[in-house]
Amino acid sequence: MSNPTVAIVGRPNVGKSTIFNRIAGERISIVEDTPGVTRDRIYTHSEWLGHNFNLIDTGGIQIGDEPFLEEIRDQAELAIDEADVIVFLVSAREGVSDADEVVAKILYKADKPVILAVNKVDNPELRQDIYDFYSLGFGEPFPISGSHGLGLGDLLDEIISKFPEDQANEEDDAIRFSLIGRPNVGKSSLVNAILGEHRVIVSDIAGTTRDAIDTRFTDGDDEFVMVDTAGMRKKGKIYENTERYSVMRAMKAIDNSNVVLVVLNAEEGIREQDKRIAGYAHEAGRGIIIVVNKWDTLKKDNHSLSNFEQAIRQEFAYLSYAPIIFVSAVTKQRLSQLPELIKKVDHNHRRRIQSSALNDVLMDAIAVNPTPSENGKRLRVYYGTQVSTEPPTFVIFVNDPDLMHFSYERFLENKIREAFDFEGTPVHLIERRRK
Ligand code: GDP
Ligand code: GDP
Repeated sequence: MSNPTVAIVGRPNVGKSTIFNRIAGERISIVEDTPGVTRDRIYTHSEWLGHNFNLIDTGGIQIGDEPFLEEIRDQAELAIDEADVIVFLVSAREGVSDADEVVAKILYKADKPVILAVNKVDNPELRQDIYDFYSLGFGEPFPISGSHGLGLGDLLDEIISKFPEDQANEEDDAIRFSLIGRPNVGKSSLVNAILGEHRVIVSDIAGTTRDAIDTRFTDGDDEFVMVDTAGMRKKGKIYENTERYSVMRAMKAIDNSNVVLVVLNAEEGIREQDKRIAGYAHEAGRGIIIVVNKWDTLKKDNHSLSNFEQAIRQEFAYLSYAPIIFVSAVTKQRLSQLPELIKKVDHNHRRRIQSSALNDVLMDAIAVNPTPSENGKRLRVYYGTQVSTEPPTFVIFVNDPDLMHFSYERFLENKIREAFDFEGTPVHLIERRRK
């Protein structure tokens, strides 16, 4: 089941990014602390009363040199295309403006729930000003204050009450995967090529107005769900060529997948934006496969494949666990191998190791390469246990976590990877002091 998406729309300065940051809360600061990755503050994953959702600040998608009204029009269109629930934000301080009315006109066309929120209601006296906004035609406005954090609980209650019915089938063991990558690497072509070779299962969920964004198909006995396919097929909107939009799309797809195919373009080589997009998948802890598309365009010799592979290993050093496959959406080269590879990575991503087997590996590792010591104090590793999957996460109990150096942790991870098949999945190690 995809997490629902909430988009905040409104003219500039009503407080969209303030509200976004409020709702994003702590999570954003964690994300921002991650070194090496430039963060766009326009997309986040959040939770309210046990409901997970994606949140987009459409104001962060600068579409370019467009006139002001064109820009907010495009942002509103984007919200309609991307969101399950739209929050239309206006400001009590400035009252109803022409720009608010422009946004309203576009949102009338949305067949998605629109919630009108009046921001900057910083004190109770301002509450009477919100009634003017009834004229926008979206019913009762919700008074909030982003800077004071007022009214957000009621707004969030309303948002989650409008989420589409959970269509999840509890026994659904289909593998969810997505294709991510910058524009023009060939995602849509790959989507079509893969679906063209499989039996697509048409879902018959009656009465949903929601876009069928996910496509389900079978490969032999296995069922797969290709996430966000519709969005890739419909093209041609102005905002689709902006980098922030493609990053937002990628993050949304990653959130809703078990396995992520990071698509590169063999013709153009590796670009900065590729690294940024791959970084999100890695941080999110999903299974990852690197797909080098347009392999047909290269004049190949004996070294082309290994040279390209080497470049990938160098540029995406943190993805050393990810398998690489060289394909062509045009000639269909190796495409038939993809489902099997996705299945294998998904399996590894869910793999659970028995504590006894894990501890045999840890103890053998320590015997080969003794634990480091610092200031006469030696690291002691007592035992390890797997605490979760997707991605596999191990807690290692030690005498003092500070004595665990990065390089020794890497050594232990490598030993675990030698002993068990974790190809395609990150593996997390957490050191805990034994009580
Ligand atoms: P955006 O352009 O819609 O993303 O708006 P911003 O979030 O950047 O906010 C625009 C301005 O309004 C900033 O100066 C904010 O500090 C201010 N602002 C945001 N929320 C509130 C609020 O609840 N009350 C008041 N008084 N000011 C706010
Ligand atoms: P997207 O923006 O990532 O969805 O990329 P598209 O699927 O729209 O592809 C961009 C362009 O690359 C189109 O002109 C495709 O025909 C072309 N293309 C896609 N895959 C291949 C491929 O494997 N080989 C070649 N030669 N061209 C491709």
